Amino acid sequence: MEPIERIRIVGAGAMGRGIAQVAATAGYRVELTDTDDAAVRAALEFVASMIQRSVDKGKRSADEGEAILARLTAGAAPTAPAADIDLVIEAVVEKLPIKQAIFTELETATPNAVLASNTSSLSITAIASALRDPSRLIGLHFFNPVPLMSLVEVVPGLRTAPALVDTATAFVTRLGHTPILARDTPGFLVNHLGRALPSEALAILSEQVASPADIDRIVRDTLGLRMGPFELMDLTGLDVSHPVMETVSAGFYGDPRLRPSPIAATRVAAGLLGRKTGEGFYRYEDGVPRLPAEPEITPDAAAIPVHVHNHPDFAATLRRSGATVLETPDAEAVSLVLPVGEPTYRVAARYGLDPALTLGIDPLGIDRRRLTVIVPSAADLVVVAPALRVLAAAGYLPTPTTDVTAPVAQRIMATIVNLSCALAEHGIGTPEDIDRGARLGLGYPLGPLELGESAGTERVVAILDGLYAYTRDPRYRVSTWLRARAEQRISLHTRGARPEDLLTNRGTDVRSR
Ligand code: NAD
Repeated sequence: MEPIERIRIVGAGAMGRGIAQVAATAGYRVELTDTDDAAVRAALEFVASMIQRSVDKGKRSADEGEAILARLTAGAAPTAPAADIDLVIEAVVEKLPIKQAIFTELETATPNAVLASNTSSLSITAIASALRDPSRLIGLHFFNPVPLMSLVEVVPGLRTAPALVDTATAFVTRLGHTPILARDTPGFLVNHLGRALPSEALAILSEQVASPADIDRIVRDTLGLRMGPFELMDLTGLDVSHPVMETVSAGFYGDPRLRPSPIAATRVAAGLLGRKTGEGFYRYEDGVPRLPAEPEITPDAAAIPVHVHNHPDFAATLRRSGATVLETPDAEAVSLVLPVGEPTYRVAARYGLDPALTLGIDPLGIDRRRLTVIVPSAADLVVVAPALRVLAAAGYLPTPTTDVTAPVAQRIMATIVNLSCALAEHGIGTPEDIDRGARLGLGYPLGPLELGESAGTERVVAILDGLYAYTRDPRYRVSTWLRARAEQRISLHTRGARPEDLLTNRGTDVRSR
């Protein structure tokens, strides 16, 4: 296939203009089109201002800036005939019939072009099904804002010519962006994987485990995410994220792992969309969230003696801060237990501890500052409350939650890892692309498979099995990819042998040994 030189972009909105900017910057000749001429003019002005800003900042010379803008022009019309266009990228409204109509015309109008759609939620296969030759169409899913988000999902439809994957991948690489290959499934890779965090956070909120601010604090400080799930939903806007949840969930026929939350639907109806409406899970003043303050807990190592069940390191940490840590439970002390995948009261019951005098501590937090403290329903609050002061004296920021299933961070971490393993299991992406997609597309500090490795795959399985056993909710069923690798103690990144491998070199190797 001829290398790509000339590009047409159809749709000059938020995405089209961003794609135009990065393509012209990378040296391609780009024509921008739209049914609305004003949109094209506005987009060209916008890109010119962005390039000028980069010149002003000294990122490129004025000559380079001019050369970029000289490569970017207004095209005659979205479906104007042109034999010299090598690639058309469509970024118009997210409506299947409109996209199909555009590509049906382009099929004849731009006979030599690779046809690409920037759809985020429609099936590439379905868009291509309107074409006489569906092999010409591929998905190129950019993220907003395109110049800052370097990830692009390359999505072949079922009938896409295999060679287009290479062409599209080379194009994305030349843009200086990072391509990942995603199977044509609802939400592709990133928007599918991105459902784990908000849906589990909303489930936790719905079960009245903790407030949005406390869930955000726990997620940020325990799992190292830059933003908590509720801050993130406020930033994206629930009017955007809730429909994505519904589409991906419906696309997988109601898989409970992708269950949307009625809380989100009601909040959308109320117009509590997030930053853009001034109120979402938080209130905003001049775009700045009004976060509820951390509760004041006066540190006091001597507030009450504690007994740490089965965790010598944590006991030693508390002792070092001056706390009285007893070796055995005592009617005058608070027992601290460290639940994994189950409620605190169950751990207390198993070891014969009095639930009235017991608090749960999420072990995921003990090496960090934020400590999730789980308060069993039967707790005697007058007795257990002073234990928060003991924890504060050891340098922790204790965040109390109710005792529903597993601790908050465990639930969020395990559901993210589990969904990523389900993606690997179904070949929606390679393990490496799943990690890359989460880091670049969702801003996670670690890819979810890396996260599972670092948390310990057996522990992740234990959390999920515990959640499943307690709730009987198939949302928590362990992905076979995860369970098989945990049980065999092999990396979550291991692809594993496939039938076809037996017929190639690997099979020969086995026989000759
Ligand atoms: P937008 O509303 O900002 O822009 C769409 C543009 O398409 C408008 O200028 C409109 O005039 C034009 N248009 C509508 N019908 C047209 C037609 N028949 N022919 C030519 N132009 C037409 O939308 P957007 O946010 O840029 O999204 C465009 C596409 O990119 C959608 O498929 C969307 O799902 C996808 N996408 C959006 C984002 C995002 O965050 N905004 C991210 C990834 C993918």
